[in-house]
Amino acid sequence: MFEGLNVTDSFKNSVSFALKNGRLSHAVILEGKNEDIRFAAAKEIAKALLCKGETKPCSMCSCCVKCDKDIHPDLHILEKEADSTMIKVDAVRNIKAKALIFPNEGSKSVFIIREAQYMNPQAQNALLKILEEPSKHVCFILTCPSKSSFLETITSRSTAYSLGEEEYDSKKDEKADEGKSLANELLQIYMSSSEFYFLQKTSVFQKDKALFKAVLTSMVPVIRDALILQSGGNELISGYEDTAKRISSSLTQKKVVRLLEEIKELSEAVNSSANHNLSITRLSAILYDIKSH
Ligand SMILES: [Zn+2]
Repeated sequence: MFEGLNVTDSFKNSVSFALKNGRLSHAVILEGKNEDIRFAAAKEIAKALLCKGETKPCSMCSCCVKCDKDIHPDLHILEKEADSTMIKVDAVRNIKAKALIFPNEGSKSVFIIREAQYMNPQAQNALLKILEEPSKHVCFILTCPSKSSFLETITSRSTAYSLGEEEYDSKKDEKADEGKSLANELLQIYMSSSEFYFLQKTSVFQKDKALFKAVLTSMVPVIRDALILQSGGNELISGYEDTAKRISSSLTQKKVVRLLEEIKELSEAVNSSANHNLSITRLSAILYDIKSH
């Protein structure tokens, strides 16, 4: 089991042992390593639970084959939608309805919640209700970088396994790099052009919430640098010295402080559940209001 998967031996041994003895918890958390490895490990456990062969997972029986093709009727996978920043409560309620139905083919229904840290607190509470009254035929597997993203009430009802130390995710890094350079570009536009042009430039965020978040996060150090320059300091951190200089020489210190506070606030709102399109318009409203008043 878990062959070819880059996970620790202690993980392999403890999960295989629990499975063999039919003692795997009805709620399993897989943390550590990277997203792909976590998901592959979750699928392997699901296969072992649904397999009808001798050595589970046999990878040969009809159940294993269906799992590999993602068409097993008792294997349900829940993940964040591509254009969303979270797994919402409705999606979890939908799982609850499915969990009440008896499995189609085997003795178990397996639910994988992929990157479950994206569940907001309401979604976690909805899941908690299912975990509190577990039915024998249901098993939940939650993957996440760290179980610390869950409410304590969730972790206390689950068994967490670490796959090994968390790994660096290059995909996330690309988004961060893109966000940095676009944040710089937008601040340049802000200093030199009209709100109309700025708004045009931000329309790209409508389909890319992750990029919007990355841009807001990256604007903060540039604005902080402008403040440092205004107070006579020179230890800049953003890597966009020219933009910081331009802001510091064009806006009053009071305005720069306000800019920093408002961008931070917007960034927090976007990271929770603020209306996405409104937040995009709000960004330009904040910036241009500060510039003109
Ligand atoms: Zn099998």
